Amino acid sequence: MSKPTILTVDDDPLVSAAITRDLASRYGADYRIVRATSGPEALAVLTKLALRDSPVALIAADQRMPEMTGIEMLEQARAHAPDAKLLLLTAYADTDVAIKAINDIGLDYYLLKPWDPPDERLYPVTDDLLGDWRQANRERTSEVRVVGHRWSDRSHAVKMFLARNHVPYRWYDIERDAEAERLRDLAHAESADLPLVLIPDGDTLHSPSTLDLASALGLHTSAQQPLYDVCIVGGGPAGLAAAVSGASEGLSTVIVERDAPGGQAGHSASIENYLGFPKGLSGSDLAQRALAQASRFGAEMVLARDVVGFEARGPVRAVLIDGSGEIEARALIVATGVSYRRLEAEGLDELTGRGVYYGANISEASQCQGDDVYVVGAANSAGQVALTLSRFARQVVLVVRGATLLDTMSLYLLERITSAPNIAVRYRTEVVAGRGDGHLEGLTLADRNTGRTEDVASSWLFVFIGASPRTDWLGPDVVRDDKGFVVTGQELAASHHAHRWPLPRAPFALETSVPGVFAAGDVRLDSMKRVASAVGEGAMSVYLVHRYLATI
Ligand SMILES: Cc1cc2nc3c(=O)[nH]c(=O)nc-3n(C[C@H](O)[C@H](O)[C@H](O)COP(=O)(O)OP(=O)(O)OC[C@H]3O[C@@H](n4cnc5c(N)ncnc54)[C@H](O)[C@@H]3O)c2cc1C
Repeated sequence: MSKPTILTVDDDPLVSAAITRDLASRYGADYRIVRATSGPEALAVLTKLALRDSPVALIAADQRMPEMTGIEMLEQARAHAPDAKLLLLTAYADTDVAIKAINDIGLDYYLLKPWDPPDERLYPVTDDLLGDWRQANRERTSEVRVVGHRWSDRSHAVKMFLARNHVPYRWYDIERDAEAERLRDLAHAESADLPLVLIPDGDTLHSPSTLDLASALGLHTSAQQPLYDVCIVGGGPAGLAAAVSGASEGLSTVIVERDAPGGQAGHSASIENYLGFPKGLSGSDLAQRALAQASRFGAEMVLARDVVGFEARGPVRAVLIDGSGEIEARALIVATGVSYRRLEAEGLDELTGRGVYYGANISEASQCQGDDVYVVGAANSAGQVALTLSRFARQVVLVVRGATLLDTMSLYLLERITSAPNIAVRYRTEVVAGRGDGHLEGLTLADRNTGRTEDVASSWLFVFIGASPRTDWLGPDVVRDDKGFVVTGQELAASHHAHRWPLPRAPFALETSVPGVFAAGDVRLDSMKRVASAVGEGAMSVYLVHRYLATI
């Protein structure tokens, strides 16, 4: 497979030489660095690469060029290299034009010239852009191979785990790809052994559990120390923010995540209201950045492990891990968020993971190419997923119980949904049944006004109907409300559970009924259910951990 291309476009020989040299010195081993000195020349290069099906990862173009501006060139470049990241090199005077291009042509970043020193001003940007490109183009860079049935729930779980842990993989459908059969025969595998996961220079796993898969990939699945300053349960935005704060402030920090870092935010194709990212960023990108940041500060990540119990042992707070093991710490932060609520409709349970999905693996959205897809839900999460799927599906039908989306969805999303030509919204409608032989083949929809039902053919149903916390594992000492949300701080002090607080001092803001146990993010009663607030609470909980540790 040919190396992906980075194309530089600049008519000024000095600037052209400088950007080409700087990019080549950092990325030359993994990418072909190609140089063009005008817009038309760059477009000719891109045409040739497209004909050879040779991937283009990044185009870095100067804005001021005589025949064609950088923005005009990048706009036309999209036709030849739709996935390439677009970087504009500008002078300060062109900043407004560059910002406008973020919306107009999907510009990924603009960089003010000169970019010296490149370690500070160029590489952080290009590292991010190329990292994102590699994530989105796994099949062009990947080595791990997965062989399985398209409609197998286990195959789906494996692909989801790999995608959400940013492990590039190539997928082989046993019913469609001759190569899949060849690999299965080579591995002497039977149908029951699928999915197969072929790790480069490693094992071939037969229908692996998540834990086996994580171990084979070299991810950490157990804690290294006997005692930590702080243990964080849950690797969503709140947990990751707590890990970054804890580790950067010198606390020995471990974070336990049962699945993959990112939490619910990892399902979001574009978070547009998070400070500092005017173009929006995907939840998976946010998670990857946070994970790298937490690791850089020395936080330990334990993946693919479910926390199933909690014990207060004198001053020690211990969590029990599913299967075996436990982690002890001087303070605990519960950041376990919420999990999707199940849609109660006949026949759906047996089809979950086989056409019926809770949450969406965005990287797999392209599998819906040309199909009719149904999305159930009325909040932003359903709206975002509908928009993402509409790029691939023939039609997306958003099924909504209420008569309007105005009260439940942000206006900017609603406007995009109503103006998308292939998204239909069916109000006052619910899914009452699903059917299919081995995978989803059809749904029954009911009109809530008339009671009339209608059968529709579809192989895809994505459900986003709210979520609830799963906090049973905390046991009886940590007070929750009747839905399972953890009660903290002032709410605890003001509630009829106040007597369960054991100390003369009042509980700190995010502290639960057990001193030294804090809750942050969506799992907390009355939390805001936003990425920004989860991140804020995660960071704040560490500040409160410091205050707590000073009291013991
Ligand atoms: C599709 C979608 C789109 C969204 N879009 C936006 C948006 O655009 N803007 C915005 O502000 N918000 C958005 N949200 C909401 C936002 O993602 C959440 O508010 C945020 O993720 C909450 O973070 P959290 O860390 O509290 O919990 P979560 O994100 O729920 O993370 C909790 C983590 O804990 C782990 N966990 C749970 N139990 C255990 C256990 N027992 N042991 C180990 N690990 C455990 C879970 O696997 C999970 O990774 C969206 C949500 C969804 C679903």
